[in-house]
Amino acid sequence: AASAWAKIPQGPPVRITEAFKADSFDKKINLGVGAYRDDKGKPYVLPSVRAAEEKVIASRLNKEYAGITGVPEFTKAAAVLAYGADSSALDRLAITQSISGTGALRIGGAFLARHYPGAKTIYIPQPSWANHAAVFKDCGLEVEKYAYYNKDTIGLDYEGMVADINSAPDGSIFLFHACAHNPTGVDPTPEQWKEIEAAVKAKGHHAFFDMAYQGFASGNIHTDAFAVRHFVAEGHNITLSQSFAKNMGLYGERIGAFSVVCADAEERKRVDSQVKILVRPMYSNPPIHGARIAAEILNTPALYDQWLIEVKGMADRIITMRALLKDNLEKLGSKHDWSHITSQIGMFAYTGLTPEQMDQLAKEHSVYATRDGRISVAGITSENVSRLAEAIFKVKG
Ligand code: PLP
Repeated sequence: AASAWAKIPQGPPVRITEAFKADSFDKKINLGVGAYRDDKGKPYVLPSVRAAEEKVIASRLNKEYAGITGVPEFTKAAAVLAYGADSSALDRLAITQSISGTGALRIGGAFLARHYPGAKTIYIPQPSWANHAAVFKDCGLEVEKYAYYNKDTIGLDYEGMVADINSAPDGSIFLFHACAHNPTGVDPTPEQWKEIEAAVKAKGHHAFFDMAYQGFASGNIHTDAFAVRHFVAEGHNITLSQSFAKNMGLYGERIGAFSVVCADAEERKRVDSQVKILVRPMYSNPPIHGARIAAEILNTPALYDQWLIEVKGMADRIITMRALLKDNLEKLGSKHDWSHITSQIGMFAYTGLTPEQMDQLAKEHSVYATRDGRISVAGITSENVSRLAEAIFKVKG
């Protein structure tokens, strides 16, 4: 009998890592990875995470299931981290642990698809994290784009963005990157966020924030939560996706949260019951180990303070590498304006290089990144930055 899968078409290759792996040059550079690397180019486990994990293991807890919405000590603390300890949202917040940020987006998309009273269209920035459109489509939402990035300035297309907010049908759903926009590294300023908030409010839109980089962008957890907290303070009952992949380096532990700000505690109760109804048939309940680690950090003052320093350390290394790359390019005599490299924020930099130039970087210089010109600044080290600058200079001038 023929295989049931005989007619399944071949999907496209997923990552560029293959080409990097196949390259035998010992000074090859991988700027495609979406994970932090230390200045030696190695994966980094935060010392606060190691300490928290040791405490968790030493306490010899059992391995019973968590509830559907996860480990309460974790979700409570995650809410405080995102919204702020004095936020009015905390008493009216439905929150669930999630399979990292992706899982939070997936629960959020499913929640909006099922319960949002308006049109089931979600507007995401152009460009956005590649998985956004896929996740939301699989949730049954229609995906549209709003203007975000201006190729000519390698900066924010602020006018275009506000125009698209204004021209979308009243009550639309808008997905915003809370900070460290992926892939461009371009964020609105606080002043621009205030006007974006006003435009969103005037149109009665719903704001869904994806906060995958809190603390990792500026080095300050409050600065990075500005947009989220501002919208809440202005009365928006937002939805929010959080990830602890980057800011705690807990990538593979898959730890995140999805939350819905409600009108009051009574509404919260009803929303919470519906979030549980969504989660239960997806995976019953989330894994506990990463949640316990994150909870230990967030709820132990000494570990929390240590973690804040370590997140800032990661953010600062990235900021330093941006400056070094720009300096090196200028020292080589590049006549281009590279100020976007340092004005952008977060793990990724949009270089403005064309797909052809990116191909050339890979073929001639063993520098690997995506063809959209995005480089992961986390892959830059004090050792490889000068060779990287030379390669970019040779390709772009
Ligand atoms: N959202 C954005 C904008 C991201 O860049 C990422 C990771 O790259 C995620 C969400 C989700 O990541 P994770 O599922 O590992 O938390």
